[in-house]
Amino acid sequence: MTQEKEIVIRRLKTAKDLGKFMADYYYELDDAAKSGKKKIAWCTSVGPAEILRGMGFLTYFPETHSAMLGTTRMASDLIPKANAMGYSPDICSYLTADIGAFLEGVTPLSRAFPGIESVPKPDVLVYNTNQCRDVQDWFAWYADRFDVPLVGVETYRNVPEVTPAHITSIARQMENIVEPLEKVAGRKLDMDEFKNAVALSRECSDLWEKCLAAAAAVPSPLTFFDGTTLMGPAVVGRGTRKAIDAYNLLLEELEERIAQGIGAIENERYRLYWEGMPIWGRLSMHSKLFAGLNANVIASTYCSSWIFTALDPADPFESMARAYTELFIVRSDDYKEEYIKNKLEFFKCDGIIYHDAKTCPNNTNCRYGMPQRLEKRTGIPSLVINGDLNDLRMLSDEQTKTNVEAFIEQLEERK
Ligand code: SF4
Repeated sequence: MTQEKEIVIRRLKTAKDLGKFMADYYYELDDAAKSGKKKIAWCTSVGPAEILRGMGFLTYFPETHSAMLGTTRMASDLIPKANAMGYSPDICSYLTADIGAFLEGVTPLSRAFPGIESVPKPDVLVYNTNQCRDVQDWFAWYADRFDVPLVGVETYRNVPEVTPAHITSIARQMENIVEPLEKVAGRKLDMDEFKNAVALSRECSDLWEKCLAAAAAVPSPLTFFDGTTLMGPAVVGRGTRKAIDAYNLLLEELEERIAQGIGAIENERYRLYWEGMPIWGRLSMHSKLFAGLNANVIASTYCSSWIFTALDPADPFESMARAYTELFIVRSDDYKEEYIKNKLEFFKCDGIIYHDAKTCPNNTNCRYGMPQRLEKRTGIPSLVINGDLNDLRMLSDEQTKTNVEAFIEQLEERK
């Protein structure tokens, strides 16, 4: 009788602290929504959160809620509710799952955080289209539903090099949202609070960058699958001191692991890069699949999306304009290829996994020949997994398993 191999994945102790950070964050929002003590702004995940903090808003990020709909595997049943309203099954499954959940009156927040019954009602919605147009449509639906203002920044796409003209245009748009936001906030933008939020965001970003860079150690103390949940404070808490405290603890644990030569998985033989979004409903399954093959997915473009090295409190609007326009997702394919090539070298990767996410072309970079071009340049092989961030009807677990196993065999032959 064959014996199943035991899969060893070492969980980080600080994951619990980061879990507490998220609980405190959602309870604070829930309290504000119920008591009306503070105004709430809904913000896109790479939206201008620092401006909102400079006016005392609490910020809620619907994409994080959608990712929870994915991890709890509630999304696939909810997406059709939004489809019935006219939102195509081919558009962002964050949008369709989130609107579906709202229409059904359900939220994973209730299960995770007892006492929370619904998402916090917005006083205003704020977007930046730097990631996609879907966020604008998504927020417009809620603005109409709640009868509250919608403001935003419309940005450039496929940018090869960020120029002063880009920065000026985006910075002016950011300045222009201040007045309508002040009307909702009932107070002026406090420049000191705003600059402080930019400084805290920058510190959070630098720490998060160091945490992710820890994966360059051999063996890596971190996996991509850990990163997708550990990044919570970088998304929802940037601009706050609490997020910095959380990442100081995480960094300390990662450095301890490096000093002791402890890897996140046992027997790290292959080191992989993940390009594209996670498949939220399969995080655990995929983490075990790769670890069981002695492969560690150590780094990704996705988790690095919340690194904003341009932020500078001395020049808050211009530096925010730069930080939120320099992002990978905004850039041209030439830029993206160079970026990934550098990451492969830095993290000493043996292969790349591209996730072709059916409903997010914006975070999918394997449809126009990039895997082939990068393989030619670097000699590093790649595998494309067909799936989706939230809609589990778009993937075949059997096919994924077979393809990953064959890919690892291919890597073994090159060792
Ligand atoms: S980037 Fe993709 S997943 Fe994110 S909101 Fe836009 S379409 Fe949805």
